[in-house]
Amino acid sequence: MRRRFLSFLLVTVIAASLLATTCSRPSARPNVLLVTIDTLRADHCSAYGYPIATTPVLAALASAGTRFSTAYAVSATTAPSHASLMTGSAFRTSGVLKNGLPLPQEEVTVAEVMAASGYATAAFVSSFPLRSRFGFAQGFESFDDEFSIPESSEGRRSAPVAHDRMAGATFDKFKAWLDKRRDTRPLFLWVHFVDPHFPYRAPEKFQARWPADVDINVRHYDAEVHYADKQLGRVVEAFDQHAGAGGALVIVTSDHGEGLGDHGWMSHGINLYEEAVRVPLVVRWSGRVAGGEVITAPVSLIDVAPTILDAARVQQVPPSFEGRSLLGTLDPDRTIFMQRRSYSGKEVEDTAVTGEMTALVRSGAKYIFAPEENRREFYQLPSDPHEAHNLLAQAAAGQDAALGEAPAAGQPPVEKASADGGQSPLAAEAKRHDEELAAWRRSHPEPQTAGAPVDKEDVKALRSLGYVD
Ligand SMILES: [Zn+2]
Repeated sequence: MRRRFLSFLLVTVIAASLLATTCSRPSARPNVLLVTIDTLRADHCSAYGYPIATTPVLAALASAGTRFSTAYAVSATTAPSHASLMTGSAFRTSGVLKNGLPLPQEEVTVAEVMAASGYATAAFVSSFPLRSRFGFAQGFESFDDEFSIPESSEGRRSAPVAHDRMAGATFDKFKAWLDKRRDTRPLFLWVHFVDPHFPYRAPEKFQARWPADVDINVRHYDAEVHYADKQLGRVVEAFDQHAGAGGALVIVTSDHGEGLGDHGWMSHGINLYEEAVRVPLVVRWSGRVAGGEVITAPVSLIDVAPTILDAARVQQVPPSFEGRSLLGTLDPDRTIFMQRRSYSGKEVEDTAVTGEMTALVRSGAKYIFAPEENRREFYQLPSDPHEAHNLLAQAAAGQDAALGEAPAAGQPPVEKASADGGQSPLAAEAKRHDEELAAWRRSHPEPQTAGAPVDKEDVKALRSLGYVD
């Protein structure tokens, strides 16, 4: 089962040896820190223009580095999204279609490649779906996923078993590991915080006085974001003390956003609207990455792994990595693909869920397609950033009005099949997008065999965390 990785590893080791003997560039490679802040939607970060100072640390990192203003998660669910992040590819090919399905051992992860190329690797995660039992420890020599009730999120301390950990406690583990370190190899470290995730219960002193007219759930969510940002500052400060001649590369992002009611959905997972998939992405590498720069070209979490390998001067990028290094030239008209996690049930939070949902974004146009739900949505994000006006629904409504069948007020923005018989430029464009998404699915086949069945105890744990099957 390990053949795919082992054969790649052999090539990598040979390439690394050649690099060491023939390369005239300075030998020092950067220490690399990857931070994922779970459930952090970009537009609630002050670093991304949110009017309340939720993320001053991230803003400072962006000032010293580069901020990607149009970064997308591949999914709106923790495990699939992190699977794409770690493998640089669409999660559907690995079979991590939802939380609880393991990342197969034969997948090549960025941590495995970094370890093979001479990096010391360690990870510190904060929630159940990312525990080592689900395959996320691949390539990490040290993987800290031990949780305890006293360290659990404030909203989970009455649970019989600990399934998560507050960012402050995760920082403590990270700092203790760094302080004990005697290794001289360069570092690749991954820190994951869960705090903005529901339940929104930040420590009391972070319950800042947000404007009274802001929804209470949003205020509590923002307080959690603010708390996580504070802990991010502590992690980066500790990490920076270990910057060597190669410098300290810090990459901060999130696995997905949060609904917060924008499209009638509070949480995440079921849809692919901007609030669910648009995430912050900041890269700081002083002296190597421009400070204060904002990149508007669309990028994806699948680009993070190739970026890390590029910075570490790993010459042999695994062929399974589909992303592009963020340190190179980026295409402003690139197509970004994403997919909803799979659901076994038919209804989630009073919302019908059937079959697959995929989406693409290109040049500001966004297309969402759920064929089994007879659902097509098409938005022009520059003029409609909150996806309030489904152009296909409007076309259908216009056609119905012309026929004297105007839709009822408040009708959801769901296109009736072939709004205008497939004749208009809009319908033709939608059809092209259908075909593009179908081609993407075909070129990224799901594994023949489904992931290993989820253990009964795992199902209980996932349900206790609010994850539906
Ligand atoms: Zn998540």
